Amino acid sequence: MLPTQLRFLTSLVFPSQCHLCGAIMQTHEQSVCQICLDRLPRTTYLMNRQLQPLGATIGSNFSAALSFVGEVQILCYALKYGGNYPLAQCLGRHILAPHLLQRTSAPHLILCPISIHPRRLRRRGYNQSLFLARGCALGLQAAGRSAQVMELLVKREHRKSQVHFSQFTRWSNAAGAFALNHQRAPEGALVVLIDDTLTTGSTLLAAGELLKQRDPKMQLYLLALAKED
Ligand SMILES: [Zn+2]
Repeated sequence: MLPTQLRFLTSLVFPSQCHLCGAIMQTHEQSVCQICLDRLPRTTYLMNRQLQPLGATIGSNFSAALSFVGEVQILCYALKYGGNYPLAQCLGRHILAPHLLQRTSAPHLILCPISIHPRRLRRRGYNQSLFLARGCALGLQAAGRSAQVMELLVKREHRKSQVHFSQFTRWSNAAGAFALNHQRAPEGALVVLIDDTLTTGSTLLAAGELLKQRDPKMQLYLLALAKED
């Protein structure tokens, strides 16, 4: 990453453009301009209410910020396959953080990305959920909350991408995919598990269940950037 002081030099030669509309961006904007961020389709009350009973099975809150349609699909694809970590950080900061701030007053938050297997990490170049979490932490800190990224999970086995799996196979595939890291979240903090896209919710639930097994008193929030309708 370029130091902030040097970034203006490259921006003179390669002015940064919005990933969606192509507009030349202001210096404080990154990846997606403020107008496009504001226009992204948010999840409806009903969409998030459907997630509540799933989260309740492990005593957790559960919500998603965006609806996986139109331009959100383009952004999620760029996150997964484009190696675009500034975009992940931008969406974490400007979408996930405001979403959380509206839903919890917890003063201390631990943001835990869903981990990916080292082999996939090498191929993809980065873990998009980690950079979503980092951006989210920046947004929460800017709003005066204490927020810290901690990787509490490790990926245990290499699984095929879920894209071609049926719903039933996805459920059974998610169980046993994670192991716990040696790190533990501080007592009393709200642990927010972060993933990019949500289809059945099986990945976040399996990871959350594992954390709850070790620490049943843990306050947990399952959070996805985008949910398929
Ligand atoms: Zn734009």
